[in-house]
Amino acid sequence: MTASTWLLPDLAEPTSAPFWAGAARGELLVQACGACGRRRMPPRPMCPHCQSTDVTWGPTSGRGRVWSYIVPHPPLLPAYSEFAPYNAIVVELEEDPTIRFAGNLVTSASGAINEIDPATIVIGEPVRVVFAAIDDVFLPRWVRA
Ligand SMILES: [Zn+2]
Repeated sequence: MTASTWLLPDLAEPTSAPFWAGAARGELLVQACGACGRRRMPPRPMCPHCQSTDVTWGPTSGRGRVWSYIVPHPPLLPAYSEFAPYNAIVVELEEDPTIRFAGNLVTSASGAINEIDPATIVIGEPVRVVFAAIDDVFLPRWVRA
């Protein structure tokens, strides 16, 4: 899949680079504090609880539940407007519901973000991560588990 007009992350940005390296290996990683051990997402250079700058990264199961979802409406960025209406979901991780990821519910990693009727999405339904290869980014997306 090539979509260079999509909003894609800077893979060299040091705070989030380990996350994207994990995604390229098919791993959904979460950052944790090296001092107090609390997980946090999105990644940050400093722990909001103890202010430590020690950082670790650990794998997750890649499984979660739909915590919420929306259907974006115009005006949309040009790269996304052709897909409207599409879904954007928030997933809480199975092993730590305080860790949430934004993404899209699709039927496969390379599926279009508008292929699932948003009216069929159920809050709490189980999902698992898949990674869509877009240019040199492996973008987490979610499929029904
Ligand atoms: Zn901490």
